[in-house]
Amino acid sequence: MCITLSTFCRMCNSRLIRSFLRHKSSTTKTSLWLKQAYIGGEWLDATSGATFEVRNPANMKVIGCVPNMTVVEAQKALDVATKAFYAPEWRQITARERSQLLKNWNTLILQRGTDLADIMTAECGKPLTESLAEVAYGQSFVEWFAEEARRIDGQLIASSMRNQEVLVLREPLGVAALITPWNFPMALVLRKAAAALAAGCTVVIKPAEDTPLTCLALAKLSEIACIPAGVFNVVTTNKAAPIGDLFCRSPQVCGISFTGSTEVGKHLFRESAGLLKRVSLELGGNAPFIVFESADIVEAVKGAMVAKFRNAGQTCVTANRFYVQSSVYDNFLKQLQAQVEALKIGPGHEQGVQIGPLVNRAQLKRLKSFMKDALQRHAKVVCGGKHLQDIGELFYAPTIITGVDRTARIYREEVFGPVITLTKFDTEDEVVTRANSSLRGLSGYFFSRDLQQVFRVARRLEVGIVGVNVGLASQAEAPFGGIKESGVGREGGHFGIEEFTEIKYICLGGLKYD
Ligand code: ADP
Repeated sequence: MCITLSTFCRMCNSRLIRSFLRHKSSTTKTSLWLKQAYIGGEWLDATSGATFEVRNPANMKVIGCVPNMTVVEAQKALDVATKAFYAPEWRQITARERSQLLKNWNTLILQRGTDLADIMTAECGKPLTESLAEVAYGQSFVEWFAEEARRIDGQLIASSMRNQEVLVLREPLGVAALITPWNFPMALVLRKAAAALAAGCTVVIKPAEDTPLTCLALAKLSEIACIPAGVFNVVTTNKAAPIGDLFCRSPQVCGISFTGSTEVGKHLFRESAGLLKRVSLELGGNAPFIVFESADIVEAVKGAMVAKFRNAGQTCVTANRFYVQSSVYDNFLKQLQAQVEALKIGPGHEQGVQIGPLVNRAQLKRLKSFMKDALQRHAKVVCGGKHLQDIGELFYAPTIITGVDRTARIYREEVFGPVITLTKFDTEDEVVTRANSSLRGLSGYFFSRDLQQVFRVARRLEVGIVGVNVGLASQAEAPFGGIKESGVGREGGHFGIEEFTEIKYICLGGLKYD
């Protein structure tokens, strides 16, 4: 029997679905608590046998041990990812088939959402409700990029030469190295990896040392989803620097996507310059949160709580510097203080908890030193301002401070903790100048019901993401990223795929149109 090419393609897709359904039904009970890294479709220990412990920051108990890998295993991962990139099972499949693989993965992520949330809360401490919200947020990127995978279109451009056509293709970059932080152990892996896979790249991921378990769980689900061996690799380590340098210097790596501190981001940028590598960086912020007198104050307080206290203030888009117009300052502060003091603090797995622990000792030490510095510069504590050792070693009280000097570190740098610094202002010009005085330009928020002011201020704020009358602006459809020292490149939306594609121009001559 002779089948047409299109029938063949449809059959390939249904074969993918059939094989996924077979795998899926037999593995829905598979444990997602993994102890090995995932390289080339195999679950592996470190060659040396070394491991490192992962602790629950709520009680400091060890919840897992994973391989402590080195450049030896990272090189192996690059080798298998390179091989997989050129293998017909990945290189030759259609966009629709790639999309199907991502959809398979998405189905499993949704199906195992509560298990993933449980792992996330255990390793990074965030309240379970926030982990469940992160499952939905992370999954939305897989869903979005599964859809986008089918729309990585080229162009046919009108040529200025007779008998020639100008074709433009978008091709996958190649092997992409992804380095992710601990504050969104699932969403940031998925936001990068789903875009890379949709583009046709293969990936080697180095998750944060505090939170490797969520990433390994996602690797397990990628395996069940039938994503071919070598396409999605995870290397675990607590010694990131040599592996980061390997990623920068190896010609096998075509692109690096990093989320983390500005210092490490700049280092990776410099190290990658030798090979003029594509680098996408999502770095720290120092978001202003402005409340104008025209704002709905009840909504502004709600927005402030969301913008500040998600993940105990440990997010790069967290509002750091709060500015409130003088005429509404007292009203805003009164309402805000009441809500801050009502927050329930405790281990993330406990029912109703809204604020979990900080992720590790280094973060706590940093926050305490920031507070000490601010108080030495005459800041005043309105509420909180305490290390809550009776709850656990890493708990810090949700805090409001006022009278913060512009030279204080807590004002100039990213706080990464549950502390609000509140400042009064009089005019729009004054507050916009203060808001823009930071070199970190990731996100900014403001509340206003004056339409003229909304457009004026949204345009004047020097940030990549502006939240107007909202405290949470990120979504899969939109571009996420900063300006100035907050990074280069964008994730999410249709922009996210561009980071993982190259443009190829084909000049097709010798045509007989004349
Ligand atoms: P944070 O201070 O929030 O932990 P980092 O920038 O130190 O931010 O860490 C973010 C991610 O970068 C983590 O996965 C970490 O292991 C990794 N990392 C840290 N230093 C380096 C480095 N020199 N090269 C590559 N990755 C690094």
